[in-house]
Amino acid sequence: MNVLKHYINGEYVGDAAASRTSPVFNPATGEQASQVLLASEQDVDTAVAAAQAALPAWRNTSLTKRTQIMFRFRALLDANRDRLAAAVTSEHGKVLSDAAGEVSRGLENVEFACGLPVHLKGGHSLQASTGVDVHELRQAVGVVAGITPFNFPVMVPLWMLSNAIACGNTFILKPSEKDPSAALIIAELLTEAGLPDGVFTVLHGDKVAVDGLLNHDDVKAVSFVGSTPIAQYVYSNGTAQGKRIQALGGAKNHMVVLPDADLNAAADAAISAAYGSAGERCMAVSVLVAVGDVADELVGKVQERIAKLSIGDGTDPASEMGPLVTAQHRDKVASYIDKGAAEGATVVVDGREQKFDGDGFFIGVSLLDNVKPGMAVYDEEIFGPVLAVVRAENYTDAVELINNNEFGNGVAIFTRDGGAARSFEADVEVGMVGVNVPIPVPVGWFSFGGWKKSLFGDSHMYGPEGVHFFTRTKVVTTRWPDPSTSVVDLGFPSND
Ligand code: NAD
Repeated sequence: MNVLKHYINGEYVGDAAASRTSPVFNPATGEQASQVLLASEQDVDTAVAAAQAALPAWRNTSLTKRTQIMFRFRALLDANRDRLAAAVTSEHGKVLSDAAGEVSRGLENVEFACGLPVHLKGGHSLQASTGVDVHELRQAVGVVAGITPFNFPVMVPLWMLSNAIACGNTFILKPSEKDPSAALIIAELLTEAGLPDGVFTVLHGDKVAVDGLLNHDDVKAVSFVGSTPIAQYVYSNGTAQGKRIQALGGAKNHMVVLPDADLNAAADAAISAAYGSAGERCMAVSVLVAVGDVADELVGKVQERIAKLSIGDGTDPASEMGPLVTAQHRDKVASYIDKGAAEGATVVVDGREQKFDGDGFFIGVSLLDNVKPGMAVYDEEIFGPVLAVVRAENYTDAVELINNNEFGNGVAIFTRDGGAARSFEADVEVGMVGVNVPIPVPVGWFSFGGWKKSLFGDSHMYGPEGVHFFTRTKVVTTRWPDPSTSVVDLGFPSND
């Protein structure tokens, strides 16, 4: 059995006989492919000690040298796109083209970090008061950790580590135990790019590793992405211990279709955003809000398209959607169809009826109509290929529905009315908004983050807010007076 070990100080560390382990499956076949080590508290201490030892030299390495390493890392990632995508597909299940898309989006974050000197420049005020200059420094926070979810095993680690490392921090990645291999490829590529040992660590694990990182005095900041209950847990425990925390949580993303929208384009977008990656995206559209009298026609168009979807092994180029990540998750997703029916939703397409050969964790896609708040299929994040249609009478009702939802990650509006779209941007209480764009993940030089229960903390991920999160500012006030002018003055310094 292949054993996936920790990567500490540029070496693979640990062994299965002396550790707790967790199985890693190929979701397309249902077979166990490897086992991953689960860190103990001692392993956490070893990883943090290595990161702490590497910190002084790394944060004093010139900005030019640090960004040169990011440039080399960018080139290596580019050359290893296929290898990374294959690792993602084999453990997550998403189709290869989707996995390659995730690598591309992650590359944007590395490219942003290649230009980091521009963002790390502090301000300077000459002659702020007579003979006094003021300037600002941005310094690394120290040893920082990233805890990531299973659904983007390349992109989400790159959201965090690119800025964290380029800013001069040492970074410990605790990837999802469900698909941990991509993190190890990233580690190898960073080492090949010239990153000194100890600056990037992969510590595999579960709650023990997460708690160990949250409780360790030498870990100064934690960046988390995952489900809302764990995000909230990480945020409250981490901040209680004086750490800087950004914790991104779950989502229930709405796509509003106004009566003037092109319904074919809207149906294409809804299908793609609801069922791509088997709905296991934090920005997946899970609620389609049909406004006015478009609902019947829109549901019909979505249903027509569902019939043509091809679901199968992600390595088969003909597959548009792969399996779910685990058998347990597939069964949990399946349980929502009955819940929806029992609570009064109309099951238009029941994904459980599609049969698949073999033991892979497959399920067909589902479409539920006449869904309403208060039903579990509306209130809870399903994180699978289940699209709920809510019928709203008008624009105001649609916005009210979204603003009353406890999540606020992504949202989209489909319309040809610029005025309505402009109002929507202003009115909707959601962090990322798409206008005729169903999955509005911001490009790498903006920042990513939701509102409400989709984000705990006050800084978004990557881009300028990522730089802010991974640095501390200092403001220096300087005066070089002629000693002969020196006097005792107990008054509060005033500026003139
Ligand atoms: P998860 O919350 O189960 O796991 C996330 C991380 O937390 C993993 O590394 C896991 O090992 C760790 N973890 C799990 N249980 C823990 C516990 N009890 N204590 C401490 N740590 C624990 O999430 P997941 O199933 O891997 O990922 C899917 C979720 O992530 C969805 O809710 C999705 O919406 C969310 N997500 C959000 C974003 C975003 O940007 N907001 C992006 C991607 C995924």
